[in-house]
Amino acid sequence: MSSFDVVIIGSGPGGYVAAIRCAQLGMKTAIIEKYSSLGGTCLNVGCIPSKAMLASSHHYAEMKHFADHGIEVTGEVKVNLQKMIDRKQAVVDQTSGGVKYLMDKNKVTVFEGTGSFEDATHVKIDKNDGSSEVIEGKNIIIATGSKPANLPFITLDKERVMTSTEALKLPEVPRHLIVIGGGVIGIELGQVYLRLGAQVSVVEYLDRIIPGMDSSLSKELTKVLKKQGMKFYVSHKVQSVERDGDVVTVKAENAKGETISLEGDYALVSVGRKPFTNGLNADKAGVKITDRGMVEVNDHLQTNVSNIYAIGDVVRGAMLAHKAEEEGTMVAEIIAGQKPHIDYNLIPGVVYTWPEVAAVGKTEEQLKEAGVDYKAGSFPFKALGRARAGGDLDGFVKILADKKTDEVLGVHMIGARCADLIAEAVVAMEFKASAEDISRMSHAHPTFAEAIKEAALAATDNRALHV
Ligand SMILES: Cc1cc2nc3c(=O)[nH]c(=O)nc-3n(C[C@H](O)[C@H](O)[C@H](O)COP(=O)(O)OP(=O)(O)OC[C@H]3O[C@@H](n4cnc5c(N)ncnc54)[C@H](O)[C@@H]3O)c2cc1C
Repeated sequence: MSSFDVVIIGSGPGGYVAAIRCAQLGMKTAIIEKYSSLGGTCLNVGCIPSKAMLASSHHYAEMKHFADHGIEVTGEVKVNLQKMIDRKQAVVDQTSGGVKYLMDKNKVTVFEGTGSFEDATHVKIDKNDGSSEVIEGKNIIIATGSKPANLPFITLDKERVMTSTEALKLPEVPRHLIVIGGGVIGIELGQVYLRLGAQVSVVEYLDRIIPGMDSSLSKELTKVLKKQGMKFYVSHKVQSVERDGDVVTVKAENAKGETISLEGDYALVSVGRKPFTNGLNADKAGVKITDRGMVEVNDHLQTNVSNIYAIGDVVRGAMLAHKAEEEGTMVAEIIAGQKPHIDYNLIPGVVYTWPEVAAVGKTEEQLKEAGVDYKAGSFPFKALGRARAGGDLDGFVKILADKKTDEVLGVHMIGARCADLIAEAVVAMEFKASAEDISRMSHAHPTFAEAIKEAALAATDNRALHV
């Protein structure tokens, strides 16, 4: 029987990063993945393919503004959806191949098959060719991720009533795509098909889209997406989703108790994701799973069984690839006897629409609720030279800082390139910067990053220079 210092179940960003770090720290490491393609949800049906589709559809949408820039397109510009999807798949395949390369380079043994516990130190691998093998792990890391959630009354036929996985490989651009759930995944994929020519309606139970983020971001994103043609039905509770041939009918009740009926040809159910532990036989190892299907862990990501850890989407916290990666690194270092730490408050959240939305730290709603005395400074992108030069005028940066100490408590932004700009805010907050610290740092001109400096100036003493 093969024996390892660490056995990792699941090769998503949590699992494969944990494997690399374990190997770097000198541990004999194995990783088990049930699919032939490594990289988990993120690489195969999540972050990477959705960003590939967003990038392709963004190029198409940009064409509408070519004339403003003095570029005349005389021939017909058409979307070839199949080619777009083929390109996306090529990006996925290359990226997954890159993970395989990293496993080989770090001498991590890869097992293809479904892993399940025999006991607290043995994992059985049911291989895809029908054979099986049991391996031993002194330590075991559960990194089995998550799957799309559904509402109990919706039948997913995965053809016209679908999850994000199917929405990444549609055979045609929908005529009318009804998105159930206005969270990050629904809004991103909704924008892909909106740009490609679909009518897109978003039905959201709560009173705003991207509800976990600062409400000012929801408001601005709603405004911009409405301008682009997306329709919103917030405070609407979906009651039924029926398919009849090529027609999908979604009925929802609004706050007044009235029922609306939307008729489309595709419905995307994006109501969140649920932790995935099916087939793991966690009970054979004595590992505790919560009522909500999560693996229960302590602050050291250790389960109730001391040599078994769990990371990523299968444990509490934000379901984000970079959160899973940080936890993968942390667990490897804990097993190696180190004392790493993650500040969960500083895990940024990003929506890859255009304009992009990004945030880190506390929202205004959270600060109000906690009774924190704070001040806010905002700066609109339209007042920036770089934004004007490029024509990306939507959005703003908002900095929230402690009223007495001036320490930055939260940074919220919507606009061009915010997915990358947020890194400056993370660094600043990691080093406990004050708004004045940021305001006194030189930011290259002309850049979008100047909006962060200006928002910091606005938060310092209402001293923004360019408004
Ligand atoms: C459409 C979409 C877009 C997204 N975009 C982003 C984004 O832009 N940024 C971001 O941060 N996050 C994004 N996410 C979320 C991100 O994909 C997840 O947070 C991340 O993949 C979680 O990583 P993980 O390692 O915990 O699990 P996963 O990536 O889910 O990987 C778990 C792996 O374990 C395998 N597995 C499960 N059970 C077993 C078993 N018993 N034996 C063997 N293998 C098993 C699974 O096959 C899977 O490969 C997106 C998700 C979706 C669906």
